[in-house]
Amino acid sequence: MNSSLKLGCIADDFTGATDLANNLVRTGMRVVQTIGVPTGPLNVEVDAVVVALKSRTIPAQEAIAQSLEALRWLQAQGALQIYFKYCSTFDSTPEGNIGPVTEALMDALDTDFTIATPAFPDNGRTVFKGYLFAGNVLLNESGMQNHPLTPMTDPNLVRVMQAQTQRKVGLLDHTVVARGPEAIQERIAALKTDGVGVAIVDATSNDDLLRLGPALQGMPLVTAGSGVAIGLPANWGLAPSSTASQLPPAQGLEAIVSGSCSQATNRQVAHFKAQGGPALALDPLQLTGDTDALVAQVMAWAQPLLPQGPVLVYSTAEPDAVKAIQARLGVAEAGALVEHALAAVARALAQAGVQQLVVAGGETSGACVQALGITQLQIGPQIDPGVPWCHAQGSAGPLHITLKSGNFGTDDFFTKAFTVLA
Ligand code: ADP
Repeated sequence: MNSSLKLGCIADDFTGATDLANNLVRTGMRVVQTIGVPTGPLNVEVDAVVVALKSRTIPAQEAIAQSLEALRWLQAQGALQIYFKYCSTFDSTPEGNIGPVTEALMDALDTDFTIATPAFPDNGRTVFKGYLFAGNVLLNESGMQNHPLTPMTDPNLVRVMQAQTQRKVGLLDHTVVARGPEAIQERIAALKTDGVGVAIVDATSNDDLLRLGPALQGMPLVTAGSGVAIGLPANWGLAPSSTASQLPPAQGLEAIVSGSCSQATNRQVAHFKAQGGPALALDPLQLTGDTDALVAQVMAWAQPLLPQGPVLVYSTAEPDAVKAIQARLGVAEAGALVEHALAAVARALAQAGVQQLVVAGGETSGACVQALGITQLQIGPQIDPGVPWCHAQGSAGPLHITLKSGNFGTDDFFTKAFTVLA
């Protein structure tokens, strides 16, 4: 049992977990994120743990099994409230996994009511009369209607949730949320009397989320995107403070590994090079799979440069170049080859004394974290929205690491990141 632990979170993907952890830290909680369900007990004093799963689009029964395993571990550590985190665009299908996982957690927690809302107005996700907006448009006009795995063609979350839920789904609308925590609690009681098990909650401003927070005190299960988290730490008397995001002092050499080909990352690579930063491009067509030879080559280049400041090793390329490479190698094969190479480079850099590492790319991050032997991340200060520095114990020793998914971060992210740590 961990005496300080309050909130136990289960996130359905890796970067979503970091997004939630970042919100909790900003509002006053000390947080660690674990990669999957840990095999041993929690060994740090924190207020919240976020268990990162990869359960968003796997078969519902597998998602349930993984989520219940995470729940049992969180309960064993002493978590007082459970938070099931999903995407802010409510990524799911009539088969799940938001509904089935929510109900499995409700059954396991023996609770007959919970809320569901992906609202995060600061990030452009608002819910009004149960309809989800992404920016200025309804969800089904946002591009999400064309998502390859979870096309979202109905913006009405009451209907979307009902299609994947046995229990009755209801709505806690904005007129009630606007009146504050007491009104919200009264409506929850009325909804329960009506037989509602899950209520979609409206929120069109961050103030709505802060009014919702106190009404959720003592609710065994909360299900939401990352937004609702900003209203929860205050329920335990926690307020924003710089101590929540405090990490051990940074030391060691600095490096950046980038396998993201997103627009923002392309600009960040260009910016770093334009500032005169040393950068080495990996050409996927030259990668033979002989990682030892590649690592030797990269390290021969990097080692003399590292003492002067951060070096960048990247496969980041513009869309046309990526398409040409994918046509030659195959999409999955090109991805796996590059991820494998960059992960080996990240490990070699850490072994050579790099203790401050920026990784760009969601999938790339997953590969690097695994290669570095990291199973747990302590969440620190935010560099840009959704991207915090973390501290971890890797197989080569302790290091500071930040995992930047595709389109996050300003153009100067690769230089700015290190100044945030210093
Ligand atoms: P993002 O967060 O921007 O989506 P990811 O790391 O998740 O970045 O995904 C990028 C994918 O593209 C990875 O699988 C990576 O290995 C692959 N990749 C990186 N560089 C190239 C390249 N030059 N050509 C083809 N694929 C690449």
